[in-house]
Amino acid sequence: MASEFDLIRRYFERAPKNKRALVGVGDDCALLRPDAGLELAVTTDMLVEGRHFAPGAEPRALGHKALAVNLSDLAAIGAAPRWALLAIGLPQADEAWLKAFAAGFFALAERFGVDLIGGDTTRAPQRTITITAMGEVQASVALYRAGARPGDDIWVSGEIGGAALALAHPEIAEAAKRLHEPEPRVELGERLRGLANAAIDVSDGLAGDLGHILERSRVGAVVEYSRLPRSAAFKSLKNSDLERDCVLSGGDDYELLFTAASARRAEVEALARELGLPLTRIGAVQSGEARLAVLDAKGKPMSFKPAFDHFR
Ligand code: ADP
Ligand code: MG
Repeated sequence: MASEFDLIRRYFERAPKNKRALVGVGDDCALLRPDAGLELAVTTDMLVEGRHFAPGAEPRALGHKALAVNLSDLAAIGAAPRWALLAIGLPQADEAWLKAFAAGFFALAERFGVDLIGGDTTRAPQRTITITAMGEVQASVALYRAGARPGDDIWVSGEIGGAALALAHPEIAEAAKRLHEPEPRVELGERLRGLANAAIDVSDGLAGDLGHILERSRVGAVVEYSRLPRSAAFKSLKNSDLERDCVLSGGDDYELLFTAASARRAEVEALARELGLPLTRIGAVQSGEARLAVLDAKGKPMSFKPAFDHFR
């Protein structure tokens, strides 16, 4: 039977391509040499079997998603992804599972120039995957949640609600892809530096995540529900309650939600064309209490579910 070290060597040890990792997998620590003048952005996310993914979840997609959710956090602060650490707990040394997991992980890592530089591997009662990702951003240009200003436009990338729709309708292939293999908006995050005033990634639902920007920035906001870009699949379902719950409160979309001065509107639109990624203006930041008003087509405030809470 393969030892812990055989598994690490077989599935996770690859030579770092990024010159600034002096030592990667195989020593006591990874050793990095960040460039002078750059800030290091660091984030971690944990996926637990039975909580964040189903026991039978496809391992290749899981390898992708475990890294994608971390790259999404780096994008939301405007950092360029560079390195990742992977801590993994498994009930047994299932090599077919590890091989597929590593394939999904490295396919995404290579696409964005991320080196796996270390981690930990252990037996555990259930599958648990914790990734720590690090990125670089020039000093003083990172995108904080706290930067929104009254009068800013509010924008969101891509489409939202698709991942949550897949939980209710797993047979809708487009939605299932959004849930299981989200695309982190890495390039957009980097390009929003110096353009956006505040940003966050939509991981827990649009209303809740926008609420985090409002709280940190001490501002309010108005969003027009009809403007929210959503999966075409909702049209044929004709279930307006489900649609509202998915679009306003569904999690796992990993789109970027950001605010920018209204004077920069044309620049945001030009960026959308350049990246081939829709960026939709959904509302505006207002002065006053950190409250979000979502208006329906008649201009009436809508009620919506609170954000997902892992302990509720
Ligand atoms: P230590 O005993 O110093 O914690 P380990 O024996 O746990 O080291 O790990 C050996 C080496 O393999 C270390 O460099 C560690 O970072 C790396 N490593 C362990 N598990 C993983 C993994 N799942 N992915 C990437 N690197 C790993
Ligand atoms: Mg260890």
